[in-house]
Amino acid sequence: MAPQVVECRARVEAVRSLTPEIVEVDLRLLEPAELSFEAGQWMSVPFGPKRVRAYSIASTPATGRGRISLCADVAPGGIGSRWFRELRPGQVVEFRGPTGGFVFNRADPRRPLFVAEEIGIVPIRSILWDLYQTGFGRPTTLIYWCRDPSWLAYDGEFRLLARRFPSFAYLPVVREPGPGWPGERGEAPDLVERTIPGVEGLIAYVAGGRDAINKVRAVLVAKGMERKAVKWEKFW
Ligand SMILES: Cc1cc2nc3c(=O)[nH]c(=O)nc-3n(C[C@H](O)[C@H](O)[C@H](O)COP(=O)(O)OP(=O)(O)OC[C@H]3O[C@@H](n4cnc5c(N)ncnc54)[C@H](O)[C@@H]3O)c2cc1C
Repeated sequence: MAPQVVECRARVEAVRSLTPEIVEVDLRLLEPAELSFEAGQWMSVPFGPKRVRAYSIASTPATGRGRISLCADVAPGGIGSRWFRELRPGQVVEFRGPTGGFVFNRADPRRPLFVAEEIGIVPIRSILWDLYQTGFGRPTTLIYWCRDPSWLAYDGEFRLLARRFPSFAYLPVVREPGPGWPGERGEAPDLVERTIPGVEGLIAYVAGGRDAINKVRAVLVAKGMERKAVKWEKFW
């Protein structure tokens, strides 16, 4: 059964800058004291009768249902970014959720390909940790695109995950690598084109901006993937 959508109040426990423009917050739930959610779901923060901003849950259900983490790119600079930038420990905040169907179905035997554009990594991070925290043996690939290496939030974690689990392939890709960058250079759809030889038995999860989602899907469909085998979460 899908987790129920509820009105929540929570206290900010910690605020961290993961990169100069990416902020992660830990929220201790006050009401309800615990929240049921699936990795990949999001919360909606109200800013008026018809103004809301959505934020994916960065933590996993196994981290503890009394606490969730959210993570935002605050560069867009609108009302949601300002709210995030101004969060301080001790503050009480309100939001609603969990919502959303960008979740991994374990009963599905296909092997997953995850593709994240910048902050689109947030729900994918939750799904990946959830899979590996609870035992997952199938080959899994993460293609994670950012403009340059300084935007790769959670990069260290994914490198660690790839060392611990040989079935997990981590492929970060940046447009502007700078000196000493050991990884791939370019755009996410190009890397999908080059590194995914066949799509049989594959299911894709793509999160980020609309253009990137459309381009990645076009590459996969051209390789023979069914359109509906590409699940997506459009952030902007
Ligand atoms: C299901 C869902 C989950 C989301 N989860 C997250 C999340 O976990 N973390 C997060 O940071 N955002 C997430 N977003 C986006 C978030 O809801 C806001 O849109 C974002 O924070 C910008 O809000 P804002 O009020 O600061 O700027 P706005 O005034 O709403 O946006 C300003 C402009 O920036 C564009 N834009 C918004 N975000 C980006 C971006 N990251 N990169 C480039 N352009 C952008 C918008 O399309 C708009 O043109 C999610 C969106 C959806 C629909």
